[in-house]
Amino acid sequence: MYLKKIELHGFKSFADKSVIEFQPGITGIVGPNGCGKSNISDAVRWVLGEQSVKSLRGSNMSDVIFNGSEDRKAQSVAEVTLVFDNEDRFMNFDYNEVEITRRLYRQNNEAEYLINREPCRLKDIIDLIMDTGLGRDSLSIISQGNISSFADSKPEERRGMFEEAAGVAKYKKRKLESIRKLERTKDNLDRVEDICLELEKQIAPLRRQKEKAEVYLELKDQLQSIEVSVLVKEIENLSASLKELNDSLDSLDKEKVTIEGQILLNEQQNETLKKKMYDLDQEVNGLQGQLLTAMNNVNELETQKVEIDTNRKHILENTDKEDLQARIAQMRAILQDAVNEYNDRVNRYKETKEEKLDLEAAQEKNRSEMMALRQNIENLNLQLHNNRNRREQLVDIVENKSGYSYGVRSIMKAKDSLSGIIGVLGDLLESDAQYETALTTALAGAVQFIVTKTDQDAREAIHFLKENKSGRATFLPVEVMKPRSLRDDHLMVCQNFDGYLGVMSDFVRYPQEIESVVLNQLGNIILVDTLKHASALSRATFARYKVVTMDGEVVNIGGSLTGGTNKSQSSNFASKRELEMIKETIVSQEKEINHKKAKLNELDNLAREISHHLLQKQMSFAKLEVVVTNKKSELQVAKSEYESLTHRSVELSEIESGAQDNQLINELNEAKKLRDRLTESIQAKRELRMSFVNENDKLEETLRASRAHLREIQSEMTQKQVNKAKQETELSNYLLRLNDEYKMTYEFAKEEYTQEINMGEAKENVRLLRHKIDSLGNVNLQAIEDYQEVSTRYETLNSQRLDLINAQDSILKAIDEMDEIMISRFGETFEKINKEFNIVFRNLFGGGKAELRYSDPDNILETGIDIDVQPPGKAVQNITLFSGGEKALIAISCLFAILRVRPVPMCILDEVEAALDVANVERFAKYLREFSTQTQFIVVTHREGTMEECDLLYGATMQQKGVTKLVSVKLKDAIDLAGA
Ligand code: ATP
Ligand code: MG
Repeated sequence: MYLKKIELHGFKSFADKSVIEFQPGITGIVGPNGCGKSNISDAVRWVLGEQSVKSLRGSNMSDVIFNGSEDRKAQSVAEVTLVFDNEDRFMNFDYNEVEITRRLYRQNNEAEYLINREPCRLKDIIDLIMDTGLGRDSLSIISQGNISSFADSKPEERRGMFEEAAGVAKYKKRKLESIRKLERTKDNLDRVEDICLELEKQIAPLRRQKEKAEVYLELKDQLQSIEVSVLVKEIENLSASLKELNDSLDSLDKEKVTIEGQILLNEQQNETLKKKMYDLDQEVNGLQGQLLTAMNNVNELETQKVEIDTNRKHILENTDKEDLQARIAQMRAILQDAVNEYNDRVNRYKETKEEKLDLEAAQEKNRSEMMALRQNIENLNLQLHNNRNRREQLVDIVENKSGYSYGVRSIMKAKDSLSGIIGVLGDLLESDAQYETALTTALAGAVQFIVTKTDQDAREAIHFLKENKSGRATFLPVEVMKPRSLRDDHLMVCQNFDGYLGVMSDFVRYPQEIESVVLNQLGNIILVDTLKHASALSRATFARYKVVTMDGEVVNIGGSLTGGTNKSQSSNFASKRELEMIKETIVSQEKEINHKKAKLNELDNLAREISHHLLQKQMSFAKLEVVVTNKKSELQVAKSEYESLTHRSVELSEIESGAQDNQLINELNEAKKLRDRLTESIQAKRELRMSFVNENDKLEETLRASRAHLREIQSEMTQKQVNKAKQETELSNYLLRLNDEYKMTYEFAKEEYTQEINMGEAKENVRLLRHKIDSLGNVNLQAIEDYQEVSTRYETLNSQRLDLINAQDSILKAIDEMDEIMISRFGETFEKINKEFNIVFRNLFGGGKAELRYSDPDNILETGIDIDVQPPGKAVQNITLFSGGEKALIAISCLFAILRVRPVPMCILDEVEAALDVANVERFAKYLREFSTQTQFIVVTHREGTMEECDLLYGATMQQKGVTKLVSVKLKDAIDLAGA
């Protein structure tokens, strides 16, 4: 087997697709530093599965993709294919050629692997080359770095090479897999054992429960076979007995219906009879009533007859007919007079009564009018009284100046003894009512200032106050006071201002002589309508003037505001005005009262008159009442006398005609006839009733007997029905039990179960079996199934456990076997290499000795490899102390020793001999030649000695900057190229 060619495209500096052909033997690759030689060995390493980015001299896998140069764009994918010749089937793959490809895309870092252009996994590639000696730790690719680090590396790090040479790598891999498998098996075993242990705990109690359940089922089965038979038998017996009962009930019912019919009929007859008797009784009663009336009638008529006879005799003896007629006529005249008189008196009586009522109404009206008038006068008097009081107060205020201070009052009192006192300012001013509030506000305290003619007068007055200790006062001497006014420009402003009414002094009337005082006090006070305007106007005139409103609010000089209400301080002006008004009111009220009093007087006179008339009327009314009563009784007497006379006259004419007598006799005869008829009828009906009574007695007897019989039948039926209900309940209980307990129908049970049983014994057996079942206590029927399930599961798991234990054993055995193979192969190979190492060493160093040793001879499987070397003429020394060239030689010795023992099909050596001297390069080259029959060498070199041994030479260049190009060269060109 050998590497036939490498195809690179986009891998590192191989931007363009490059194909490098190889042959068996030695191929040399030469070229200046940095032209991409080592990239070739990187490419081979990469395709063979290298995953370490560091080994590929990058920091990212995508670093292997050509990443552009000065005039080339980067590639997006790197692809390298190795083509091996496999005619000798060295590789375990049945093709003459094996192509292994690896691709990497920059965009998503996605890798692709192919064998003979078929996609595959990385693992497939690793498996394919596993036994060929091209593996990771093999000697197939050795770089400059590998060589120099060989001597310095740790013993353990060197071991890999030897393992690869001994061919134990695959055992190691398999052992690892086995150990993992062993761990998994162990885990499974632990898990299965846990479950088994748990199941073992459940099994014993479940078994006990299961056995109990089985006993229970057995007993239950026995019970069922007996009890079902018993039930069937019971049901059968009950059904028969019920049939009998039903039959007997049916016949009883028929009998009962017949008797009931009979009774009903007899009762109806009885009813009819009773009705007849009742009707008869009613009739007899009626007839007896009629009889009684008839008898009374007879008696009465007989008495009447006697009376009439007696009366007739008396009347005929005592009455004179003509005299009677004369008395009747006389009496009629008297009666007529009495009627007339009575009617006349009654009319008068009514009239008087009406007049009396009119007078009473008039009296009432007069009384209420007087009362209202008195009330009215009283109210007026009260108002008048109040007004007079108020007048006193006002007089006090206005005329006695009581509202003024003590000082002012003192001066005004002594006014006449002082000179030049004109008056109090407030009293001297007058204004229309609507301005009084504003004026009072404008004046404020000045209301009480006293106006004098001169200041001399004022001083004297003050002196007077002091002398007499009579308080204080302020004086305004006319002579001295200077008029004040608004500045012209301010006046202009005011006149154009909304709400401006004028200067306060324009709204007052006063005596001419005090003008200077008035203008001094009011000439510069402005009057406006509202406080809002007052504020605005004050601002417009720079708050130089006092501004007052109609409601008495003030914006003072300087801008402060005063307002609100002042309840007691009514101004002097108002008081004066009120005093005048109240005086007028008092006069008009006094007039009104007088007027009303006169009216009251009139009414009083009228009242007296009405009372007088009324008294007279009442007296005549009382008299008339008596008269009417007398007249009424006179009338009645006359009337009854007249009636008795007319009555006697009628009687007399009847007696004379004899009509009365005949009629009475006829009536009497008729009455007697009726009485006899009634007596007969009553007798007949009594007899009929007697016969009904007899009939009724017979019927009652029959009814009593029928009813007694009916009661007997009913009680027998009740008894039977109770029995029937009892048996039916029992029957349904038995059927229910069959259904509930044994889930069978009666028909089914009857078919399936024998009825050849002794009931007594069977019932006893049932009792015994039930007792046994009860004494079992709680039974878990599920236990049978559960036990089955758990024990089956346990068995399955137990056999799994045994399988796992077996598996574990066999894995352990396999591992042991592998260990043995590895130990023996490793040891064998190690010994061989050791021997060859000494030989190659001596050869390369021209003498001395070298030996490989286990760093841990007791643990061949893991031991590291130590190297003891002694070049000729030198003592054995620590390997790290050797020169670079010596170290390279030692490493190369080892490499060749391994190649001798275990040849590899292909080996790439990247400047491994760089540090050797010319003589050693030659020896190195000779060794290559020696091995080249069995190993294909691809050698990156700068050394002429090596180049000379090469069968084929490639020169690597970078004609285009950053892009490697390989061309076949002759030795001479190669030497030039290496030197360049
Ligand atoms: P030496 O003789 O010094 O060992 P060499 O010929 O072995 O030199 P390599 O190490 O193979 O040189 O190549 C190094 C060159 O490859 C560098 O110039 C580097 O810029 C270039 N190279 C490495 N990776 C990339 C990449 N991904 N894209 C482009 N160029 C790359
Ligand atoms: Mg290099």
